[in-house]
Amino acid sequence: MKLEVLEKTDSFLQFIVSDLSVELANAIRRIIFIEIPVMAIDEVIILKNDSPLYDEIIAHRLGMIPLKTDLDIYKIPSECSCGGYGCPLCQVSLTCEITNDTNNPIVIYSGNLNSNDPNIVPVDPNIPIVKINKNDKVIIEAYAILGTAKDHVKWQAVSNISYRFYPVIDFDDSKCANCSDKCIVARMCPKKLFDFSNKKAPQLVKDYWRTCDLCKACEKECPEKAIKVDWKDNTYMFSIESDNVLPFDVILNKTFEIFLEKINEFTVKLEELEIE
Ligand SMILES: [Zn+2]
Repeated sequence: MKLEVLEKTDSFLQFIVSDLSVELANAIRRIIFIEIPVMAIDEVIILKNDSPLYDEIIAHRLGMIPLKTDLDIYKIPSECSCGGYGCPLCQVSLTCEITNDTNNPIVIYSGNLNSNDPNIVPVDPNIPIVKINKNDKVIIEAYAILGTAKDHVKWQAVSNISYRFYPVIDFDDSKCANCSDKCIVARMCPKKLFDFSNKKAPQLVKDYWRTCDLCKACEKECPEKAIKVDWKDNTYMFSIESDNVLPFDVILNKTFEIFLEKINEFTVKLEELEIE
């Protein structure tokens, strides 16, 4: 298996993987989507709520706030030595006590939550939770735990992940010499992959494989049949969008760790089977 990173920022990763079966590519996608544990608020005690929002709506909003996650320290409660009761190894508390002393309404933001672990805090401090009027008060006690998106989407480690085939376009421009249509493919390709700015011969843009989505419209419409669209076998372009709860290297390492655990589990269960 070969991996080449095309683009990497804090919130976006694009890479090409080759020598990989489609089943394995899909297994990687599904593990990253639903199996990697991250922190999210799961229990909320509302001691005072003068805001116009119901307690349940505030609790739901708190649950959806992405929290920075540390997989080295925290355990999933069901796997913790406390038996899931909640202890410093499997639970983080976030509290918020705000009274509006001003004469204007104020907004309570995710940054107003005080965490008992400075490493487990909202990814973005500017997510609005609720607006309160003057003299109103809100007191909240919330508990975040590790979970996976199999149980609830709030525990999703990435915002989106997809993969697609690696396009290969074979363009025989010698056929363009006799073409009377100048050049329908350059005009209609939705991704503008053919450059006809010189008005003589169309040229396939260099990095066409980055944007081509294999619609094959060029292949169908070219009057001279000069274009053949195909894709590379066992090569996929992955795109991952993250809300920064975990760095990408941790996500990828954890993915393969979980994958190997699953293979081991499968092998053990297979050996336990008694087939007559
Ligand atoms: Zn615990």
